[in-house]
Amino acid sequence: MKTSELFTTLLTADIKYEKYSRNYRRLVLLNVLLYIATTMSGIFLFINIFKLEDYLVAGMDLIVCLSLAYAIYDVHKNKRLPRAINLFVFILFAFLLSFSLVNQNESNGLVWTIFFPLVSILLMNKNQALPIVSFFYILLFFFAFDGVGTWQNGDWNVVSSLRLMASSITLTYIVYFMEYSHEISENKLELIRLKEKETMKVLAELSIRDSLTKLYNRRHLDTIFKKEFQTAKRHDYYFCFFILDIDYFKQYNDTYGHKMGDDALCTLSEAMNAFMRRSEDFVFRLGGEEFCGICVNKDESKIQAQLKVLLHAIQSLEIEHKSSLVSSVLTVSMGVKITKDYEKYDFDTLYKEADDALYKAKNEGRNRLIFS
Ligand code: GH3
Ligand code: MG
Ligand code: MG
Repeated sequence: MKTSELFTTLLTADIKYEKYSRNYRRLVLLNVLLYIATTMSGIFLFINIFKLEDYLVAGMDLIVCLSLAYAIYDVHKNKRLPRAINLFVFILFAFLLSFSLVNQNESNGLVWTIFFPLVSILLMNKNQALPIVSFFYILLFFFAFDGVGTWQNGDWNVVSSLRLMASSITLTYIVYFMEYSHEISENKLELIRLKEKETMKVLAELSIRDSLTKLYNRRHLDTIFKKEFQTAKRHDYYFCFFILDIDYFKQYNDTYGHKMGDDALCTLSEAMNAFMRRSEDFVFRLGGEEFCGICVNKDESKIQAQLKVLLHAIQSLEIEHKSSLVSSVLTVSMGVKITKDYEKYDFDTLYKEADDALYKAKNEGRNRLIFS
């Protein structure tokens, strides 16, 4: 294992950033604190056993050391923070208060209490931590006042006690609002990220759709073709590719105007989309009044029947076309290629055969479909 990997494992328990994004800072901080506290309680354990021979305190050190080691194990195994955080804050709470009581500010021992608001507000939810910090300070200030005249053999006075109160409350206030502002910026960033994600989704959808008809466009055809061709090949199904072109559409535009032409393209696209609604059916606008489609089926005759119905369904829309030479309504011609020969065919060859069939359908009089 590389040093950087070891570092990541130790500090983040290999938890993915995506999974813990907003709590990632907590995760790293918790791990760092757990290592420091476990090591320190281990050292105290040895000192109390071998140097001071205070077995009561050594017993407490042992409990703390084992609890912290368990918290490290818990975070790394179960990848969850709250239990370890609560345990850590509880141990720190008990340790700092008893230490303050026993130490009586010998050699400025009270200085260690500054860690309590810092650690608990940064590790826990700030609003959850605040009452705990307040409770911690109520007890600490009570002890400190009680110690006036006796702690440090009488040097600890009312002013020292007030100084402790003022600095502790100021520090808590600073940490709390630091966390508060951090949360506001995190929320704003999260909102921006969400909006970005939404925009990306809209853009991705726009990039694969034709703006007029909202059908899939030529670009998306490449993607779908590859996917469906592979699926059909895997299942040994028939693969069908067809090209569809509106008959006498130039005359339609000339007769009814370009706007009506656009409307007709939309009506036709909607109808085709509704008709080709199985998850293996797709229609695309190739450009102009030319469309194409893909369908996959294990039964060749079902595909043939489906496309014949499509041809009639378009005619049944009864979009008036009085300048058409084949019908009084809008009609289409289709060239179709159905195959199971996945070795012989690819996109280009299938396209060519369907296009040739379409050309034939136009030549043979339009309003029909020709199978290649
Ligand atoms: P054919 O039966 O041989 O297909 O005859 P056609 O008139 O449909 O074929 P042609 O390719 O000569 O004309 C296609 C016409 O489609 C030309 C153009 O006016 C029209 N067209 C292409 N794109 C659009 C579009 O986006 N909107 C409208 N309204 N018309 C379009
Ligand atoms: Mg045409
Ligand atoms: Mg055309």
